[in-house]
Amino acid sequence: MSDSALLNQIWATLTDGQPVVVTSHVRLDGDGAGSSLALCHALRLMGTDCRCVFPPPKPPVFEFLPGMDEAAESAEALPEAYHLVVVDCGNLGRLGPLGQDLTGAVDTTNIDHHDTNTRFGGLNYVDPSASSCGEMMRRLLNAAGRPLTLEIAECLFTAVVHDTGRFSHQDTTPEAFAVCGECVAAGARPDELIQNIFMSPTAAQVRLQQMAMATLRFHAEGRVATMVVTERMLRRTGLRAVDTEGFAEIPISVRGVQASALLKEMPDCDYTKVSMRSKGDVDVCAVAGAFGGGGHTHAAGCEVSEPLDDVRRAVVEALCSRLRAPAS
Ligand code: AMP
Ligand code: MN
Ligand code: MN
Repeated sequence: MSDSALLNQIWATLTDGQPVVVTSHVRLDGDGAGSSLALCHALRLMGTDCRCVFPPPKPPVFEFLPGMDEAAESAEALPEAYHLVVVDCGNLGRLGPLGQDLTGAVDTTNIDHHDTNTRFGGLNYVDPSASSCGEMMRRLLNAAGRPLTLEIAECLFTAVVHDTGRFSHQDTTPEAFAVCGECVAAGARPDELIQNIFMSPTAAQVRLQQMAMATLRFHAEGRVATMVVTERMLRRTGLRAVDTEGFAEIPISVRGVQASALLKEMPDCDYTKVSMRSKGDVDVCAVAGAFGGGGHTHAAGCEVSEPLDDVRRAVVEALCSRLRAPAS
């Protein structure tokens, strides 16, 4: 099926009069939240009963997004039957326990840009060359001739800017800039949005960053870096794992570092969460995949049911083994 036939089929499905539920992955990020909410706003404007439900907890950093306050965190109040749209998820496991509760889904539309996507939907709009689902949502809206309202523009701008790391990732496309330009033309304020996404940590979050940065370690002559957030640090700052949004960008931002990992002890879960980043040749998706996770070439993650120190050793070894030998 051509892309335009697929996009038309998605609209035909989602506007047939049945309610629509849009959801995204655990540890929701700016792309999952912004792209889902943008679609929800567009469908509502078209007269469809649409709502978002996100795996809890909703990250406080994205509370500013229009519609986030109304998004549900459980399947309890959902309609009896609905079209389900799953956004920014490589597989259904990424919905966490919420996935089991979405029993009213009559069909599933899968909108995603992960290489590893398993095509789990009845309709699968999957484009690994897209920098973000935000880019793909803009194409979907274009296919229906929908203009960008201010609400939609704010959501899409957030999605694209989050997933491209403010246009700093290697997979940033011309389309990513084009979508953001259109969003700004539609009234989205880049200053306000970027401050909300990247520049609004609380004092407690900065304190947690200080503690985490004290654990920074460099390996392979400074080409690999790791950083840690422990349960104790969270207790001492009164924060939750969900308050560490953006921390994974700290070790990779150091000059000379090509691959990095943030390791978090997850309170009440018996696993270590690893967030890997790369700005060179190291394919962190492949490394995360070896630990049962996935993601993109330059940003990937996994959950490992081992103590943090053991996971740190294993991840460092895996990342170092994938470095290209320095030019001599
Ligand atoms: P994070 O480490 O949570 O910042 O995620 C980085 C990227 O990897 C995002 O695109 C996530 O959707 C993806 N990702 C993280 N954890 C997993 C996992 N366990 N399985 C598949 N993809 C993941
Ligand atoms: Mn995501
Ligand atoms: Mn994404």
